[in-house]
Amino acid sequence: MLTFHFLNVGHGSSTVVEFCHGGTTSFGVIDSNLRPGDREPRALEKLRELGATSLSFVSMTHPHKDHYLGLSAIFEAFSVESFYSGPMGSLFQNRERLKKYAEKLLKVVNRTDGSSQRNAAYELVKIIRLATTRADSRQMEWLELAGDQATLAPSGFAGVEVATILPPAKVRGDYIQRIEKQDLEIVGTPKENDISLAFEFVYSGCKVVIGGDGTISNWSDRRRYERNRGQPIGAQIVNLPHHGSRHDCPPLVIDQLFGSGAKKIGVTSANGLSHPSPETIQYLETCGIKPYCTNLMPVCGANAQQLLTLPGLDPPIARWVREVANIGTMQTCQGDIRVSIEDDGTFEVEPQIRNLCGFRGEFAALMNI
Ligand SMILES: [Zn+2]
Ligand SMILES: [Zn+2]
Repeated sequence: MLTFHFLNVGHGSSTVVEFCHGGTTSFGVIDSNLRPGDREPRALEKLRELGATSLSFVSMTHPHKDHYLGLSAIFEAFSVESFYSGPMGSLFQNRERLKKYAEKLLKVVNRTDGSSQRNAAYELVKIIRLATTRADSRQMEWLELAGDQATLAPSGFAGVEVATILPPAKVRGDYIQRIEKQDLEIVGTPKENDISLAFEFVYSGCKVVIGGDGTISNWSDRRRYERNRGQPIGAQIVNLPHHGSRHDCPPLVIDQLFGSGAKKIGVTSANGLSHPSPETIQYLETCGIKPYCTNLMPVCGANAQQLLTLPGLDPPIARWVREVANIGTMQTCQGDIRVSIEDDGTFEVEPQIRNLCGFRGEFAALMNI
């Protein structure tokens, strides 16, 4: 059985991949996020709960903090065979560049007043250091990946086809060029999404895509490859790119990612407030794709702020709404979402919290209409 644990990490992504086969279980982690107040990353908690003792792979899809915070703690807790990152300028091979990059990051750590910027820069330094040290001592390989289809063979995953399907090879070098051209003042601009990895897993004919923060331009670039090869993606299960954003996950990308099978799901790992976009979720519904969101989004009710501006709203009610609504804070919808693919290719979805979803037609089913 191949299981994906899409964790609720607020505005961010973190997926634990678990493969049970022939009496052994192997694990991988794609991205991590640490919410304010979390002592340790959710992925680490989940791995302990599942009894992991070592990891086949860890991936940092791209250097944005909502995808890497806490990865250093995961590295420290386990031996890791392979580290997959987006193309960061062959940092492991090019030591001069690596040194300059680390120095720039440390400058951000020392200069910035904002603690979250400082922590993010420091965490990135830690991850890069850990990855370099382990790769140096040959305890781990570090692969910077790019290309329309880069086949991977993580140990313990025999029988599962694993590949990265973004970013395109042409973005190789972009990240490091930007850093070398400008003085690195902040860690993370939207441009980094251009080097984000997206993963594809195929098990017993069932295809899963983990979209990372894959951008609309990279998806459209890949369309040429799919057309030339006559190989559409055609997934049944997709962790929507860029948390289901309006810009990077519009109908065109959704059409590209999903196949024609009857049972399809779209998972969004986001805080609900900034992502996913209601249009994205509405389009999934139109296509018969069932959405599963870690957190409630405004269109589903996390929009108490809007209630306060209703014309003619009774002041005592407005006051009461303000007091009880937790305005601006996250409201969990499905929480962690577990998707398990059986050996025959069928799959089951198990949300941590079983809130009904109108976009999955569950209210209509309840009313028997
Ligand atoms: Zn990003
Ligand atoms: Zn992101």
